[in-house]
Amino acid sequence: MNTNIWTVDKNVENLSESRQIQQAAQALKRNEVVAFPTETVYGLGGNALSDIAIDHIFQAKGRPSDNPLIVHISNREQLIEYVDKVPERAEKLIEAFWPGPITVVLQHSKKLSTKVTANLPTVGIRMPDHPVALALIEAAGLPLAAPSANTSGKPSPTSANHVEKDLNGKISGIVDGGETGVGLESTVVDCSNDEVVILRPGGVTKEQIEEVIGPVKVDPALFDQETAPRSPGMKYTHYAPSSPLVLVEGSQTFFTKKVNDAKREGKKVGAMITEESQGLSQADYEVITGSRKDLSSVAHSLYRSLRAFDDCELDIIFAEIYSENEIGSAIMNRLRKASGGVIIKETDEMNNF
Ligand code: AMP
Ligand code: MG
Repeated sequence: MNTNIWTVDKNVENLSESRQIQQAAQALKRNEVVAFPTETVYGLGGNALSDIAIDHIFQAKGRPSDNPLIVHISNREQLIEYVDKVPERAEKLIEAFWPGPITVVLQHSKKLSTKVTANLPTVGIRMPDHPVALALIEAAGLPLAAPSANTSGKPSPTSANHVEKDLNGKISGIVDGGETGVGLESTVVDCSNDEVVILRPGGVTKEQIEEVIGPVKVDPALFDQETAPRSPGMKYTHYAPSSPLVLVEGSQTFFTKKVNDAKREGKKVGAMITEESQGLSQADYEVITGSRKDLSSVAHSLYRSLRAFDDCELDIIFAEIYSENEIGSAIMNRLRKASGGVIIKETDEMNNF
C-alpha cells in the first residue's frame, strides 16, 4: 500500500477546506485509515462507525483487539449522539478541559462499531485541542477512533516521521502537521459510575481535575502489577525502546556508578537524563529529555528520547526518575511501562551493606 504524506500548516485559516485535509477526509470516508497530529501524540484515525476501518487500525498497529479505542470528536453534538448521558461531573470536566487532553469514559449509545469499544458498554471519548485534528474530523464528518499511530508496544509517535517509521506501507496516509505539543497521551477518566476514577494519567493532571470536581480516585492497578486494571490497555507492555530500560532512583553519584558498573561488564550503555545532568552520567550515549525546571518539557520529549536509542544497539539504558505529582505522574507511568517496572534504588543497595 502506498502511504500518502499530506503536509499541512496548522496555522492557516479554513484548514478543513485545504486540498490535503480534503484528500485525507475522503480516505477516511472510504473507511481507510489515516494518521494525524493531536496535541498529545499522533493518532491513527478511522471511521468509528465502521467495523472495516476499525479492523484496519488494529491490524496496522498489531494491537490486541480487547483494547478499546478512544473516539475523537470535533463538536458537542457528536458527544450527545454517541454517549447515553453526560453525568454532572463529566460535564464539568468537559467544560473545563475540552478541547484538550482528557478522555471521559461514559456509557455509549450503541451507535459506534462494537470493535471500537471492544464490546464494553462504555466508550472513551475526547475532543482534541489541535487545529489539524479538528479540521480533519470536521471534513470527514465522522467520529474518528484513534489510538496512538505506532506499532503496538513501541513508544508513541510525536512526529510524522515516527509514524512513517512504524506504519509506512500499512496505512493510507499521514497528515504531517509538525511535532505534537504535550507529548504524552490524554488522561483517561472513568465517569460512567458514581465514583470518578483516573484510569490512565496523562496531559491533564489529577491536581487540575480535583480543582474542578473535588477528590477523585486513581485506579490502584496503575501502581500494582498484581491488580487487573480497569482500563484494558493498561495491562500491556508499552513504549519500550529497542534495548532494556532500567529506572534509577537515587543520587547522581549512584546513577554514574550504575553506568560504570555496567560498562565494566562490557556493556554498551545509554542514559536518558535531563539537561541538569548532561555530561555527568559517563554513559556511551546520553539522550537529553527536557529540564527538571519544567517537567512539561520532559513529557514533550519523552517518546522522542525513547526512540532516539533505537539505532544505537545498546545493551542497557538507564533513566532518571521524576516525582509523582502533576505531569510527573504521567511521565512515571510511561517510564514504568517502558521499563517493565524494573527500578534500582540507592536506598535498597545501602540497606544491603
Ligand atoms: P491509546 O488508544 O493507545 O491511547 O489507548 C487508549 C487507552 O484508553 C487504553 O488504555 C484503553 O484501554 C483506554 N480505554 C479506551 N476506551 C475505554 C473504555 N471504554 N473503558 C476503559 N478504558 C478505555
Ligand atoms: Mg497507544
